[in-house]
Amino acid sequence: MPATLITDKTEALIQAAEADLKQAVWPGIEATLHATFARVLEGFITTKVDESHFYSVTGYGHDDLGRDALDRVFAHALEADAALVRPQFVSGTHTLSVALNGCLGHGDRLVILTGTPYDTLHPVLGLAKSQSPSPQSLVGRGVSIEILNLITPEGQIRTELTPEEQQIVSNATVLYLQRSRGYDPDRPTLTLSDLKAAIKTARAHAPREAIVMVDNCYGEFAESHEPTHPEGGAADLIVGSLIKNPGGGIAPTGGYIAGKPMLVARCAEALTCPGIGADGGYTFNLTRTLLQGLYLAPGIVAEAKKNMTLIARLLTAMPGVITAPHWDAPVRGDIIQTLTLGAPERLKRFCRLVQSVSPVSGYLSPEPAVVPGYEDAVVMAGGTFIDGSSIELSADGPMRPPYMAFLQGGLTYAHGRYLARHLLHQFSEILAL
Ligand SMILES: *Cc1c(COP(=O)(O)O)cnc(C)c1O
Repeated sequence: MPATLITDKTEALIQAAEADLKQAVWPGIEATLHATFARVLEGFITTKVDESHFYSVTGYGHDDLGRDALDRVFAHALEADAALVRPQFVSGTHTLSVALNGCLGHGDRLVILTGTPYDTLHPVLGLAKSQSPSPQSLVGRGVSIEILNLITPEGQIRTELTPEEQQIVSNATVLYLQRSRGYDPDRPTLTLSDLKAAIKTARAHAPREAIVMVDNCYGEFAESHEPTHPEGGAADLIVGSLIKNPGGGIAPTGGYIAGKPMLVARCAEALTCPGIGADGGYTFNLTRTLLQGLYLAPGIVAEAKKNMTLIARLLTAMPGVITAPHWDAPVRGDIIQTLTLGAPERLKRFCRLVQSVSPVSGYLSPEPAVVPGYEDAVVMAGGTFIDGSSIELSADGPMRPPYMAFLQGGLTYAHGRYLARHLLHQFSEILAL
């Protein structure tokens, strides 16, 4: 729709929202940005990144100095002693699968502490309702899985385990936590202090050598520290996708595993093979792009969080809509804003609006569809430069009650603000403007 259709009233509402945000929440977002950006930049400087790191070694990829530098800069940025950052990771799900397979073998026990995990992990674990476990799933490979939930219905962390839970945790090989809420309408995103509390609770009953692994997808640089830091529970391994936060909107693919060097090395063997580990693999001349994405990532996460706070601030006025987190939540553990819209038509309309203000394929109108790895039909607005990238402005939601839209990203605040103007216009009758 042409910009001339947007009324002055819309602009006034946005400016009023911005005045609230500048007072209540943006200073906190900026403080986090300064801390995370400093850490990222210092990673480049201490690693002595230079032009020679931008060229890949073909074939086996032996002695690829850029690949080693990439790992070291990411390790520093993610407060870990080692990292494995590779374009060969197909997605966040694949990266998590490699990490789980690197840490778990026949007879081992995976204990999930944060309830049912993200949908696309169900086939990886061998828990998908719709199919019997693949022989390559964890269950198929002889790993036993227990799902506990330390998150109370009120969204707090329980610090006491029942005797039965203590028994389960006392046998754990891997303790697994998911930081972001994912598509779960019933759980919040965990803050670093939540993660710390949950890990402390479980560690008190777990074997000393139990590995604490955190699915860090969407959480990178959202707070001043990462879960590897003592303030986030000192996790042994964190795992994420480069087409989310740490790719800075320009990484075209890839994932990372970061944490204890011995565990990262095991995961590298699970990705390549024993004998090669992290020491081989072509990097497709992508090292410069992946490093530049990391350099941009803290700033883009801050822009994305500003976008989410603006939309949340505006939609708190919309009858029948529930926003989470609340616009003035003091801490955001990830870049996701959920908008519970309550009706399938509203969810579709919202996602279509996001698509219509997208730089790529803005002329398309998304329809709900079944996506591999997800159990319900999902409506997705992703007019992004990198297909499926959710650090770019995007929205999606499973077509199931309570019809929750998951809005995330935006590489610039200008784009989030543009969405806000069109949102007010499109939903004006519901908002009674
Ligand atoms: C995005 C995400 C993943 C991985 O998803 P991919 O689409 O495979 O990258 C895993 N866990 C959570 C919580 C996520 O948000």
